[in-house]
Amino acid sequence: MSQRRAFTLPARPELLLILGSGLTVVLIVVIVAVLLIREHASALQAAKRSTSNITQLINADVLRNVELYDLALNGLITATTRDDLPQVSAEVLHMVQFDQSTAAPFKGEVLLLDKTGAVTADSSTLAPTPRNFANRDYFQIHQQNPDAGLFISRPFRIRCDCDQVWRIAFSRRVPGPNGEFAGVAVATMRLAYFDQLFNSLTIGSGSSINLLNNDGILLAQQPLLERDMINKDLSARPNFKRMLREGSGSFSAISAISGAQRLYTFTSVGALPLIVVVALSSDDVFAAWKRAALLISGATGVLCVGLLWLTWMLRLELRRRYRAEKVLSELAATDGLTGLANRRTLDQRLRLEWDRAQRSAEPLTVLMIDVDHFKAFNDRHGHQGGDEALRTVAQVIEGNIRRPADLAARYGGEEFAVVLPHTDSQGARVIAEHIRSSVEHLPRVGGDTVPITVSIGLSTWTKNSRTTLEELLLNADQALYEAKHTGRNRVVDAGALKP
Ligand code: GH3
Ligand code: MG
Ligand code: MG
Repeated sequence: MSQRRAFTLPARPELLLILGSGLTVVLIVVIVAVLLIREHASALQAAKRSTSNITQLINADVLRNVELYDLALNGLITATTRDDLPQVSAEVLHMVQFDQSTAAPFKGEVLLLDKTGAVTADSSTLAPTPRNFANRDYFQIHQQNPDAGLFISRPFRIRCDCDQVWRIAFSRRVPGPNGEFAGVAVATMRLAYFDQLFNSLTIGSGSSINLLNNDGILLAQQPLLERDMINKDLSARPNFKRMLREGSGSFSAISAISGAQRLYTFTSVGALPLIVVVALSSDDVFAAWKRAALLISGATGVLCVGLLWLTWMLRLELRRRYRAEKVLSELAATDGLTGLANRRTLDQRLRLEWDRAQRSAEPLTVLMIDVDHFKAFNDRHGHQGGDEALRTVAQVIEGNIRRPADLAARYGGEEFAVVLPHTDSQGARVIAEHIRSSVEHLPRVGGDTVPITVSIGLSTWTKNSRTTLEELLLNADQALYEAKHTGRNRVVDAGALKP
């Protein structure tokens, strides 16, 4: 059999192998991706929890301290508005007025202003230096609004303050005997209080804790993201607007200052006009996750590449084996000298086509071909020359059969057989005649005066004949015998011999 197809694996196992490992790789990637996404979400959740704890802690501490300042202010107002005050000495009055103000931490001055804004009492001295704070925001607020309650001022630095320390003022209105505006009680606090409080809490290096008032003024920030941040108006920032709207919660957004992605957790401090904001940098939140993700993705990548490489190697090995098996099976089915099918293949195909013909009732023809006077040819040209002639005759036979189901085989020695399914004796005679004539017209070998010729016996099974396969072969043999005896170099149809 000379038709040699390209050696490729049959589509099914190869497809299964590639599909299987491809699916496995996809599955691994999907599982790892899902796990990483879940881990990402839980890292975010954990960060939200811990920042929420921080804001609650700050909330409680600030509330407690503002309460202390309020106590000091209320104490000062109560003592000031008593009727029996003029009777006590200045020392006792001072003691009563500022009795409550000792406990507040980071306390600056506690002052009493009259309705013109002039300082009338000072916690630090019995004889206050004449000063006037009528232009301060807290004074004007209380002057204009009797219901301002506890007012928290914008941050400020005292004019003569050499250390330029930022402060804020807590203030309350002092009512006169008839409820009219009689002045302001004010206590200042150094903003260092917040720095100390915020510093005691651990957050990541790119993150910050902030305290703003409801007008968007930044009161404290730790660590400071930029210089001169204190007293800065952030009210126009979209992130601040959102916090003011929502009251408390958390969200991720781009920082207007650093331009980086941040997780903001915020809460308003009790009923005070203050908002605590913890801004965690995404780098801090996801640092551990990123490290793990990088490691896992890398390992997964290596695993997948390894798997694909193994699949490729397996595919090559399968191809190699398939090729070897194919060569072996072809060798087992082929005649070594001529390359035609061997006797074994002929027997199998004959049986197969016989059964098929029985089922389909289509005719089946067998040709038996024998080279004439081959012994003499061998004697003239030697065994090598004989072999070469057999190969040439085999090629002629193979060249004269066309259909895929047709089979030419070496029957043995210088004899050949041709199986022609779906072929009646008339069609087969044409083929046989072509073979005979083609062999006869082969170029003469080594100065021979006579050509190589073949005798062909032909036998056909049709649905009307009552023969067995063995009889079909025997009939072809007898026809061949007849061809030999009637002069050789001819085709004899067994059907024509029948009485
Ligand atoms: P006939 O016309 O009656 O068929 O005469 P023949 O000489 O061809 O028939 P015979 O059966 O007497 O001789 C067949 C010869 O074919 C014998 C053997 O030398 C030769 N032969 C058989 N197989 C091979 C082979 O594989 N190679 C070669 N070179 N010769 C072979
Ligand atoms: Mg013979
Ligand atoms: Mg012969």
